[in-house]
Amino acid sequence: MIQRWDTTEYRRDAALTIAATAHCAICGRALTSYRNPHPMASTVDHITARAVALALGWPMSRINGRSNLQAAHRVCNLRKQAGDGTELRRPDSPWT
Ligand SMILES: [Zn+2]
Repeated sequence: MIQRWDTTEYRRDAALTIAATAHCAICGRALTSYRNPHPMASTVDHITARAVALALGWPMSRINGRSNLQAAHRVCNLRKQAGDGTELRRPDSPWT
């Protein structure tokens, strides 16, 4: 089954999450106004990774819900994802 996650609603929630956050949820340092693909760009991180949440049977509304999103530097986000290797990445996504 193909799960569509990159919806308008998700993009809005991701932008709101970043806008509402002053500090990276992973390293605790201040977020920046850098844009992707800068390593210190502000990105949105799934607290429970999408692939893990899907495996747990979460509905997409919960996986992409604001309670599962946090803002983090791109480099911190990538470092976290490298830990389990389960996060699917889209090279063109502004929210990676
Ligand atoms: Zn960080």
